Amino acid sequence: MNEMIPFYERFRELAFREMRSVTIRGERDLPDGEYGFLELYCGDPHCDCRRVIIDVVTPTTGSKIWATINYGWESLEFYAKWMGNKELARTCYGATLDMLNPQTQYSSALLELFKSVLQDRAYVERLKRHYWLFKSDLRAKRKAAIRSSGKARRRR
Ligand SMILES: [Zn+2]
Repeated sequence: MNEMIPFYERFRELAFREMRSVTIRGERDLPDGEYGFLELYCGDPHCDCRRVIIDVVTPTTGSKIWATINYGWESLEFYAKWMGNKELARTCYGATLDMLNPQTQYSSALLELFKSVLQDRAYVERLKRHYWLFKSDLRAKRKAAIRSSGKARRRR
């Protein structure tokens, strides 16, 4: 899998302004607190994987990751075609716990919380917008790097 990069590393202000969080009070499955869904996107400019990794964090525990969630908004067929493998496609499609990354005893409850947030179509559209923004920025930077190395060569 490609390296996943936090959205805030490239779009700091936007990332924090548009990060979704949910405040929990008196729920049976989760300690009270504010849970933030930090977005990470894949760092390969040529990879069109159309997914986000969500690190669930809360201000009181800093960088501790409470759950790692994969969310792929395209159809299962899209990921099957993309990956050439229907079983692997299931790890990308929809909202699932990413078992290669940190989880806690609260992961299942946090996955359910995230799924409830996905009912808000505007949030899903926001994630897609962030993905395209992130990818086009990667591609632009890659192009600029190639262009400047070309110039350097010509100068010699
Ligand atoms: Zn990718």
